[in-house]
Amino acid sequence: MNCTCFQYSALELDRRSINKRIKATAAILKPLVLLAENPTLRLKLLRCPHCAQHWQTGWEWSLRGSEYAYHVPEIDLADWQQEPYLQPAAWMVYGAMMEPYYAKNTFEPSNKPCGVAGCPHRAIRFSGVCEPHHVEQLQQFGMLPKRPVGRLFPPYGATAPAA
Ligand SMILES: [Zn+2]
Ligand SMILES: [Zn+2]
Repeated sequence: MNCTCFQYSALELDRRSINKRIKATAAILKPLVLLAENPTLRLKLLRCPHCAQHWQTGWEWSLRGSEYAYHVPEIDLADWQQEPYLQPAAWMVYGAMMEPYYAKNTFEPSNKPCGVAGCPHRAIRFSGVCEPHHVEQLQQFGMLPKRPVGRLFPPYGATAPAA
């Protein structure tokens, strides 16, 4: 029997898509082989025995804690144990929390380099650092919601998704 992995694409960051995926997850997980588990974060890494596609599970309090599975790139198990992949629903919730901040602020690049050593970006006006570093600093000071834990992977980007 052929697998159905190819029928699933990257999870869209909206509740409808994620709820739909939650419903499909039991069937998705059934033929997969468990590679690793993170009991603290309640996450699993799995692999399809037919096509070798890798999958991770995620869950979100605001979605009743239901598990959902999504495609992830192949990864060394020790690396995954150290830092599992980002959970798309957590990324969606983060985007919604960051929305008011991005709505209020516009970032104009200046002609100076970012003040963080080794950073290739240009500093934004009225700040000594680039936009991602500016946001990171505000997060460190507890002035903005923290980025959810997890390793970024395509198609999810370095900045909070638009809500
Ligand atoms: Zn497959
Ligand atoms: Zn920077």
